Amino acid sequence: LTPDSCGIIIFGASGDLVYRKLIPALFNLYTRNLMPITFYILGFARTEMTDEEFKERIRNSLISVHKISDTQMVESFLSQCRYTSGEYNDIEAYRRLQKKAAGCDCDFTKKENKLFYLALPPQLHPTVVSRLSQSGLTMEGENEDPWARVVFEKPFGHDLKSALELDKHLTSMLNPSQIFRIDHYLGKETVQSILMLRFANIMFEPLWNQRYIDNIQITVAESVGVEHRGGYYEKAGCLRDMFQNHMLQMLSLVTMEPPTRFKAHCVQSERVKLLHAIRPWSERTLKDNIVRAQYVEGKVNNEDVHGYHGEPNIAPDSTTETFVGMKLYIDNWRWQDVPIYMRSGKRLSMRESEIAVTFKRVPHSLFGLESQHEMPSNILVMKIQPNEGVDLTIHTKQPGPKACMASLSLSFKYSEVFDTVPQDAYERLLLDCMLGDRTLFLSREGVEAAWKIVDPVLNFWRDHPEQAPLHTYSAGSWGPKASDELLLRNGHQWRNPPEE
Ligand code: NAP
Repeated sequence: LTPDSCGIIIFGASGDLVYRKLIPALFNLYTRNLMPITFYILGFARTEMTDEEFKERIRNSLISVHKISDTQMVESFLSQCRYTSGEYNDIEAYRRLQKKAAGCDCDFTKKENKLFYLALPPQLHPTVVSRLSQSGLTMEGENEDPWARVVFEKPFGHDLKSALELDKHLTSMLNPSQIFRIDHYLGKETVQSILMLRFANIMFEPLWNQRYIDNIQITVAESVGVEHRGGYYEKAGCLRDMFQNHMLQMLSLVTMEPPTRFKAHCVQSERVKLLHAIRPWSERTLKDNIVRAQYVEGKVNNEDVHGYHGEPNIAPDSTTETFVGMKLYIDNWRWQDVPIYMRSGKRLSMRESEIAVTFKRVPHSLFGLESQHEMPSNILVMKIQPNEGVDLTIHTKQPGPKACMASLSLSFKYSEVFDTVPQDAYERLLLDCMLGDRTLFLSREGVEAAWKIVDPVLNFWRDHPEQAPLHTYSAGSWGPKASDELLLRNGHQWRNPPEE
């Protein structure tokens, strides 16, 4: 699993993502001997810093924030880190970067592989890719030896049109095989284990269809507000921030057909096929099947919190949605007419991401219940975070002379069973990128298919705001009443995860 030697060049190396996610992930790979034998990390951004100042930021992040106690290991890791500053559109800065990379004292036996990580606001992606290409830094050798890969953080465009334009620009400068689009949800252990649960166990797949499944619910709830990312969130909103990527990718993993092999092109193409099968919106479903809302002040974890309008960098009259709930259908043999409910929001009651698959009730009630409608359902819950695990509700006889039924949970928690916390998503994705494994990355077609689902909603909200009112919900609740009503119309209700 050890990747070939390479240089890792991080653009935006003064930013939040780098110290919160990327550096800790690279450090963890290093401690687990999963970094290449020879590597360097070269930070680049406009902020002026010496190598020592860059190292000090990394040291501080690892030791003070991420509580790493092995200072010797930290120093050893730091010896591979360098920094250079410059403007993102200045070609001279890229020449300096090239020189600095060459001076990183790495004894590359072969020509140098390079991984460029764009931890930058997306509007800078085209400029950086152009300059990288013009300076020859992304030039690959024959048969990708040496390779040069560029990792892009979401969002990939602001809507379908801009995503297509961005893609056109990137593919005019890079080969498709050089482009790695990250959706970090796909790197989560629990998201990957959806495929394992479905396709490594014979008992689920025969029931995994519209004959036996009543509805599917996907919830990604956050208890935090927009924190320091108000500027970004104002322009993005919940639909772009969560649905265009994470929610639709999770939906595709739960509902796609089995890929023939666990190879990138097989898995990616099944994910895309599924997205193409989602029933197109009509004017009626745009109006009736989607709820958007914004939080007002309330209590989260017993603390009073501001409403969205009181957060930093938010316009006082902002209409950006912080919650979306929707019902959609998949038009194929497997899922015809099974309602799929998805919701995500900020400042909800708790932090919890889960996928709940509710099975149909048994066809005939034997055990003294008046009708089969009183029979409870079996529910399979895949807990994505933070209490990673799986729960299956089954019904059994309660001990005693009467035929009383009790609902029980067969469950496991990753933390208890595997005696380890799940690997961070960025760790897995960075390793895969160095190894050239694209299975957990997004394809161009996948990004485009997801925008085709989200774009009509954004347009409808823009053009017909009177038909898509912005509801409100109290911080600390499970969202607006309209989101509950969306399910009640089909006789369903949201499964609100119990507090652990
Ligand atoms: P960030 O802190 O806002 O920006 C990263 C760096 O980019 C900044 O330190 C700054 O460096 C440079 N920069 C910012 N705005 C700029 C501008 N207008 N013009 C030129 N340079 C600018 O971003 P981030 O939170 O680290 O996120 C990086 C990327 O990851 C974004 O695409 C974001 O959407 C994505 N992402 C972030 C998170 C997260 O939790 N942070 C999660 C998922 C995805 P200099 O001024 O020193 O050049």
